[in-house]
Amino acid sequence: MKDNAYYKDLAARCLMPNYGERDIALVRGEGARVWDADGREYLDFLAGISVNNLGHCPPAVVEALCAQARQLMHTSNFYIIAPQAELARRLCELSFAERCLFANSGAEVNEGAVKLARLYSKRKYGAGRHEIITMRNSFHGRTIGMISATGQEKVRKDFEPLLEGFRYADLNNLDSVLAQISGATCGIMLEPVQGEGGIIAASAAILRGLREECDRRDLLLIFDEIQCGMGRCGKLFAYQLSGVAPDIMTLAKALGNGMPIGALLGGAKTADIFTPGAHGTTFGGNPLACAAALAVLDEMTSRGIPELSARRGEFLRGRLRELMAGCAIVREIRGIGLMTGVELTCPGADVVKKCAARGLLVNCTVGCVIRILPPLIVTEDECERAAGIIAEVIADENELQQQKENQDHNQRELT
Ligand SMILES: *Cc1c(COP(=O)(O)O)cnc(C)c1O
Repeated sequence: MKDNAYYKDLAARCLMPNYGERDIALVRGEGARVWDADGREYLDFLAGISVNNLGHCPPAVVEALCAQARQLMHTSNFYIIAPQAELARRLCELSFAERCLFANSGAEVNEGAVKLARLYSKRKYGAGRHEIITMRNSFHGRTIGMISATGQEKVRKDFEPLLEGFRYADLNNLDSVLAQISGATCGIMLEPVQGEGGIIAASAAILRGLREECDRRDLLLIFDEIQCGMGRCGKLFAYQLSGVAPDIMTLAKALGNGMPIGALLGGAKTADIFTPGAHGTTFGGNPLACAAALAVLDEMTSRGIPELSARRGEFLRGRLRELMAGCAIVREIRGIGLMTGVELTCPGADVVKKCAARGLLVNCTVGCVIRILPPLIVTEDECERAAGIIAEVIADENELQQQKENQDHNQRELT
């Protein structure tokens, strides 16, 4: 029988072990629920890391994909791709952008953003102005370029030499950013809400400060909205919360609700910078991915999904706060829209495992933050159930930590 154990064995023998040991093979999904190969049901409060924002297999997206698959799946960018042109128009209508370019993943569009910022500067000011300031604790992807941009030692170590041209500053500390700016700087890149970094939002004041500084020095402000965009934070795009628009924005994850696609959005300054031959990719903006993304944007906007995300997020955090009030290992419950982090004073890996055992999928980032990213179509009842499971598991963990502390204390008394 092809059960979890069968796939676990297969994965262990045939897949490179970069994702660590995994026990669950998910084989089917609907809305906020998924089923594994043993037939167990889970509430999916990770949504493929903020990818399945409309839930699993939303009918409108499935229909659009099937229709497009029957018509045309790939042609290359030597020809105009009809759904790609439509998608670009839609993204421009819905955002600050004037032009778009498509690729297949988040890392890839971030690479594009860096190339775009460097080229803008080179065209206007000549060579030597190529540095981009990124934030500590950020995450921008796994290519050599993007681990160089990412301000976290753990993704970079062992892969040196890295790409040069990145400097790191602290999010929410304008002075630390200003200190990195020099005559070599061409841009500043950040996530309006850090995802992998533990659900940490840039303040509106910082975003305004960065915008002013970028305008003053003609630097390009780049927002990586790959995780926090697409309705996750209560607006279609996270920048709309602060009203501070970037010059360049990257989208990926939820744009295709599971179809791999990334978008690079450029405002007025960067609309015409990439001239023929400057950039490209074979699959980028392929008909299937674009048809899916068009359906996603239609659903998001016509059904008021971002507003729903804002309301559900408030409800979920409210319930988590009520259920875990006074719990010693909970340091903070924070978030925005349906992007929530529960920061613990201890490692969170066991909490994730125990939640899964009780039928709830969440994840842990930076070692101690339980990251909760349900599909945006999640119901209040599903949020209630998930909050209940999380609170139960964390209460158990709290108990264990307390016991451990008492033991350590007794140990010290004895010696
Ligand atoms: C996931 C993520 C990326 C990388 O996207 P991939 O599609 O995995 O390459 C980049 N930036 C942020 C903020 C992300 O969350």
